[in-house]
Amino acid sequence: MSEQPIGPASISARDPQWSAGNPPHQLPIYAASSFTFESIEQGMAIFDGETPGNIYSRFGNPTIDAVADKIARLEGRGLPGETYGLLTSSGMAAISLMGLGLLSPGDSVLTQADLYGGTVALFRDVFQPLGIKMIIHDLRDEDGLTRLLEEDSSIKMIYTETPSNPILRCVDLEKLAAFAKMYDCITVVDNTFATPLLQQPLALGIDFVLHSTTKYLNGHGTGTAGVLVSQHLELMKERLLPKLRLLGGTASPWEAWLLHNGMKTLALRMERHCQNAQMVAEMLVANDKVEVVHYLGLPDHPDHELAKSQMQGPGGMISFELTGGLEAGKDFLNRLKFCTLTPTLGDVDTLILHPATMSHRAIDPEVRRAHGISDGLIRISVGIEDVADILHDLEQAIGG
Ligand SMILES: *Cc1c(COP(=O)(O)O)cnc(C)c1O
Repeated sequence: MSEQPIGPASISARDPQWSAGNPPHQLPIYAASSFTFESIEQGMAIFDGETPGNIYSRFGNPTIDAVADKIARLEGRGLPGETYGLLTSSGMAAISLMGLGLLSPGDSVLTQADLYGGTVALFRDVFQPLGIKMIIHDLRDEDGLTRLLEEDSSIKMIYTETPSNPILRCVDLEKLAAFAKMYDCITVVDNTFATPLLQQPLALGIDFVLHSTTKYLNGHGTGTAGVLVSQHLELMKERLLPKLRLLGGTASPWEAWLLHNGMKTLALRMERHCQNAQMVAEMLVANDKVEVVHYLGLPDHPDHELAKSQMQGPGGMISFELTGGLEAGKDFLNRLKFCTLTPTLGDVDTLILHPATMSHRAIDPEVRRAHGISDGLIRISVGIEDVADILHDLEQAIGG
């Protein structure tokens, strides 16, 4: 897949413990809050960063660091230079670290309306009171962005999510990165929906990539974690790592291990997610009780061509609307037997969510509608099961 294969070897180069011995095949879980020093001199050298070593698990831990490294290498594969990753206790902790670590009071962030709900609330309820403003604009409107950036020198960051939730609109990352550089803006991409296998924002010129690894990277719904990745090594090591240690949003070794274990099948899973989703989307299009289908693998999705040019596959997320709106949607959801009604995504199982009553419940219905989220819209995170089981369940729930 790349020049530097990212194999199952789990032990991080950051882990001095294994450099001399022969490591176990599976990543060990260091269930330890702290690490011992052989002498006061060694302790001082490790504290000062002169000797590599571990101190305290909030600061770093071999299990956590190995997984951070692995995701960093995936996001940075094929690129010259080192890519560095920080594993956090959740996707929200990665976004918090990014914001609190890179922005200062008086700064503004330019972003899109269709962001993950928690991200919008974080900006509104945490960053805004600290004097960090959020400016919402369509990030595909280059003229509009030019006008905003020319007028407002407080804009220091462009933050995007592509494909977006739940109608899967995409932003041209290469264009956005080049544009942001002209205005000295940092670019950040939430790459949760695509995963590093289907989209590699750093290769397109983006500065920072983050994930809720809770979703596809873990893939099994067994743990909550997040990651922030970049090739800006000084910012990562000198500014963000110390902030993470102070904020305390470090991942736990156990969650890191679950994530690592899940990632072993990431390539297989993503291939099957894409295949199954394509078949589900085509079934939905052909069903006369379905009004609209949003899927990047369908040629009539407005971002089909863009997705083909910057992604390695259309992914496993679909949204659709039944004729009959909210009532038809509710009946459909209550008739499901095989697929699961749950507010997450990216698992091996097919998961279904109703944005209007679940993920986007807190958003004003008019604002929701303006962004294509009607009350009857249903989101599917297509799993990796036998596609016949998924199709059968969806068809019986839609009814004939
Ligand atoms: C789930 C999600 C988050 C938040 O991640 P947590 O792990 O739940 O904290 C952020 N962005 C996107 C796109 C998500 O789907």
